[in-house]
Amino acid sequence: MNILLVYPAFPDTFWSFRHALKFVHKRAAFPPLGLLTIAAMLPEHWDKRLIDVNIEKLTERDLAWADAVMISGMTVQRDSARQIVDRCKAAGKCVIAGGPLFTSEFEDFTSVDHFLLGEAEGLLPRLIADLENHCAERFYESDHHPDIHDSPTPLWTLAKLKRYASMSVQFSRGCPFDCDFCNITALFGRKPRVKSAARVVREFDSLYAAGWRGPIFVVDDNLIGNKKLLKTELLPALIEWRKGKRALPLQTQVSINLVNDEPMMQQMVEAGFDTVFIGIETPDELGLAACDKRQNLHRDLVADVKTIQHHGLQVQAGFIVGFDTDTPSIFQRQIDFIQNSGIVTAMVGLLQAPIGTRLYERMRVEGRLLGKFTGDNVDGTTNVRTKMDLEPLKAGYRQVMNHLYSPEQYYQRIKTFLREYRPAQKTDRVRWPQLLAFGHSIVRLGVLSRGRLHYWKLLLWTLFTRRRQLPLAVTLWIYGHHFRKVCRLHLA
Ligand code: SF4
Repeated sequence: MNILLVYPAFPDTFWSFRHALKFVHKRAAFPPLGLLTIAAMLPEHWDKRLIDVNIEKLTERDLAWADAVMISGMTVQRDSARQIVDRCKAAGKCVIAGGPLFTSEFEDFTSVDHFLLGEAEGLLPRLIADLENHCAERFYESDHHPDIHDSPTPLWTLAKLKRYASMSVQFSRGCPFDCDFCNITALFGRKPRVKSAARVVREFDSLYAAGWRGPIFVVDDNLIGNKKLLKTELLPALIEWRKGKRALPLQTQVSINLVNDEPMMQQMVEAGFDTVFIGIETPDELGLAACDKRQNLHRDLVADVKTIQHHGLQVQAGFIVGFDTDTPSIFQRQIDFIQNSGIVTAMVGLLQAPIGTRLYERMRVEGRLLGKFTGDNVDGTTNVRTKMDLEPLKAGYRQVMNHLYSPEQYYQRIKTFLREYRPAQKTDRVRWPQLLAFGHSIVRLGVLSRGRLHYWKLLLWTLFTRRRQLPLAVTLWIYGHHFRKVCRLHLA
């Protein structure tokens, strides 16, 4: 069998970092971890190739080579996935599809031959056996979440690592919380399942052996979902791994209760984590209660963010407007919260209801569903009829985004953050790509951009007061350029 694994393109979203990647000559932010893991589970005697449409073209020659095409993606990749499926079918290929997009929306992909509806570990062995015996069924699904303890190391040899800005590794799936708008628990359950620490370290080893020296995103939706195993197994193993100068910067996603466990924060920093993404959603307690974000209730969230920053972790965060409880004051409250907390990378979106969530079900029952969600939770769209009228909601959203990503406010936020941030690790020696990015930033942001005055003011401030943080500041300036471009696109 010649198996072609194809990863659809991402549109221009906040998460794509497309406009920032140009500064460092990269084509995409992350490799397709799911497909690379699936590749490792396929029989050795099958030939495999990977085409990630985000970094290269899918050619007719690729399709001619393939006996079957495996495609996986997230909801936000829907349009590209559809085009790829159509091309494969026009070329007469057998198409096998899986991943969150196809699991949620398989009914819309009538020409796909075989679906893996759920996590591959529990389904793929059966599909492989059936394909080899020429008796494959259309649907493979399971009513339980598989054990991922021994999930294999992704087949990194298929990926063109140098074209990505960051690598990805996964420790756990699932989240113990149950925020009503979140499809993570629908897809992966509420009982976090983990890989063994030895497996994860092996993945780090394989990346290091392949020559990777850049950042690694630990893609868990909530890394601290199983604190016990994280603290007793993974973090000690990563701390050990770092010894011997393998100091790759790590980032991940966590819930705000990280702040309750100071030793765990210290361990994470010691293991190499320098950035965490947290779903804060709203500073409004009624909104948090309405979406069942209980872990964020009754806290001083600004103080929590600053505590995490003091421990040496940059906080990125997601925010939502459009909860049933929101009133027109929410827009200014969100702005004030984000500016005061120094969350530079603030992803603000309108309320969306992904398929499979409790919110989706509630909206359906109340007759308030307006269609499918786009999968891009920061594109200013909503698929529900919000209690606040859509026009004032959209106007308020525009106000928030225009304010947060104006050069003046954005650079001010970087300053607020750098004042609080106390990095535990010494800044690594500056590498050539960082110097190149700095040079580009001077031209693009310091000369050609409308916000150049703010750029120079911040550059001088950083040089005089936070010189060690210059590489981080440069990264944030470049992110800002990307965010402004995406804002302009969506707000237009
Ligand atoms: S904490 Fe995050 S991952 Fe967990 S249910 Fe809530 S939004 Fe989803």
